[in-house]
Amino acid sequence: MTDEELIKSAFEDLLASLPKNTTEENKQKVIKAFKFANEAHQGVRRRSGEPYILHPISVAKIVTSEIGLGTTSVISSMLHDVVEDTDYTVEDIESLFGPKIASIVDGLTKISEVMSTENRSIQAESFRKILLTLAEDVRVILIKIADRLHNMRTLSSMPMHKQIKIAGETLYIYAPLAHRMGLHAIKTELEDLSLKYEHPEEYKVIADKIRDYERENTLIYENFIEPIKESLNKNGYKHTITARTKSVYSVWNKMQRRNIGFDEIYDILAVRIVFEALPELPEKWQCWNIYSLITDLYNPKPERIRDWVSTPKANGYEALHLTVMGPTGQWIEVQIRSKRMDEIAEKGLAAHWKYKTDGDERNSELDKWLASMKEMLELRDANALDFLDDFKMNLYEKEIRLFTPKGYMKTLPKGATALDFAYEIHTEIGDTCIGAKVNHKLVPMSHKLQSGDQVEILTSDKQRPQREWLDFVVTAKAKSNIMAAFRRDHKELVRYGIHIFESIIKELELPPTSEPLKKILTHFKLKNKEDLYVSLAEKNITKEEIVAELKQRADNKFMKYWKLQFFRSNKNEHKDEEKHDSVAGDEIVVSPCCNPIPGDDVVGISMGGKVMVHKRKCPEAIRLMASHGDKIVPVEWVTHKVMSFPAIIQIKGIDRIGIVNDVTGVISKESDVNMQTVHFDTKNGIFEGILHIYIHNTKDLNSLIAKIADIEGVKQVNRIENQVN
Ligand code: MN
Repeated sequence: MTDEELIKSAFEDLLASLPKNTTEENKQKVIKAFKFANEAHQGVRRRSGEPYILHPISVAKIVTSEIGLGTTSVISSMLHDVVEDTDYTVEDIESLFGPKIASIVDGLTKISEVMSTENRSIQAESFRKILLTLAEDVRVILIKIADRLHNMRTLSSMPMHKQIKIAGETLYIYAPLAHRMGLHAIKTELEDLSLKYEHPEEYKVIADKIRDYERENTLIYENFIEPIKESLNKNGYKHTITARTKSVYSVWNKMQRRNIGFDEIYDILAVRIVFEALPELPEKWQCWNIYSLITDLYNPKPERIRDWVSTPKANGYEALHLTVMGPTGQWIEVQIRSKRMDEIAEKGLAAHWKYKTDGDERNSELDKWLASMKEMLELRDANALDFLDDFKMNLYEKEIRLFTPKGYMKTLPKGATALDFAYEIHTEIGDTCIGAKVNHKLVPMSHKLQSGDQVEILTSDKQRPQREWLDFVVTAKAKSNIMAAFRRDHKELVRYGIHIFESIIKELELPPTSEPLKKILTHFKLKNKEDLYVSLAEKNITKEEIVAELKQRADNKFMKYWKLQFFRSNKNEHKDEEKHDSVAGDEIVVSPCCNPIPGDDVVGISMGGKVMVHKRKCPEAIRLMASHGDKIVPVEWVTHKVMSFPAIIQIKGIDRIGIVNDVTGVISKESDVNMQTVHFDTKNGIFEGILHIYIHNTKDLNSLIAKIADIEGVKQVNRIENQVN
């Protein structure tokens, strides 16, 4: 196909995917936008070699058929790169397509400008700006998510270190945002694609295993579903039942989080019932009726009922989940949704906004959330980086539901305290909080709330925010308000900085001399102690950076033997990659937070004259990759058997006499492994062992793990990152 044919067919495909009820007038506007964009991007190609215009067409297609947005968004998507990449201005767009589309395109252009900057605080600041635009017109962020999805789908044509940066950023910012917007299908795809580029091998192994699992279990599920179908038909419910597989990323994530193997994950397959609601009855009632039909057939697990029908999740999700005992004795999760609920679950609340007109003042949970975000973002002096971390946490956090004395419901993240609740009601109530009554009982403000609690806040005019408060609040809103109060009071900021620094010294068990302080001051080029404390309090320097610096100095003798080799950029690569040459002279430090060893997927992050090497899956690395994308340095291990690296192995099994001997025996027979410490614990006939060893690379480590796993009584052997988890 020629370029022209390719473009024509892609655009016709887009036109065909517009909703059936699109007016002729709107269709003409889409055609006009296409012609304009096509002309503007004329002659430009993407890295894959395709004509550039195919990208905006694809983004527009995602926006209409996967998110369900209307013509305004389709046109804005078509034009989203015009202002950034061509000579046309926002004013041009406005005179051709009107103020609404111009303002959306302007928002999109600003986001990509700030996202591509290399200044760390500006990048975090940019995220804040994204969220601000989000509160103005949520379509901007939905189109941005579609843009990122298409870039992820075509990521293979990028050089490797860019793939890692983009994948990291996607996992850190865009997947959580998609989740928060209720775009379940897109969130899942973004996560899976990120994993595929960050850990290609692990991705493939898990994807294959899921496929095998599906094949082996098809019959079991068919037998399980059959009686449900019959019963639903008999009771007049038009429905579809599908077996849903857990995504590769969510399986991988669960394995990582719980340190378990694939075989230990029991909820790989779930059954989903989508029914057509009968018009004369409430949907909620019908969901529970179906629940009752299912539990007539199978026994439910009492503690595994999830009712998001009575109170939807904050991202709008509605469904009734239950887990029942299947015919062959395994637990099977069943999800019950009406067609409307299913559309919200897959396409997010955007699916509903398309019907929402300007006069419509119904406030969904998401609308409320957007309003509270906006309020928080407008706190002038909130620290952007700090906010980014808290915000991300709040995106994924499980929720609890609480009530005011008058019975109004508030939603807060799990782990929230009475003080978080106070700030949720009003900043002034938070600032003057002295305690609370939870279910009519007096509690301190640090009291952790449970779902269903009724909370009454007690205040005093004399109260003002204290630094200790930051130790127990969890919401971004409470934190930024407390910090804002401190900024009004410099002394309090210094005291908070001292508090953080002292906790670091204590944590690292350093002697109480001024030595560490001096090192830090020189390293970060700070004038005096007060400077350091203020930087720490404001998170211009993070606790992790200080810990890494102090630890690195303590371990210096050992570290200097470690060497890594750098990729050199070659000439035909993109020009902005050449600067990486300059880091070749930097000092290389293997990060103590995740202890990578040769063979692990690693990433280098250049900071303060050093390159810190992290595992790619290290949470700290993911955080840094997103906020310091420009500092990523591609690194690769030189494999040899000269140096050894620390690794930790965890063993679990059935206790028997001599098992410790057998384990240590296996290890001491390995010439390439050195044992540092061994610790075994036995309880009720089960033992758990933690081994600290020194080893050359992952190949040796995996072969050692296989040998230990063969020992009689050993049930589970895992490598763990850190003893704490
Ligand atoms: Mn784009």
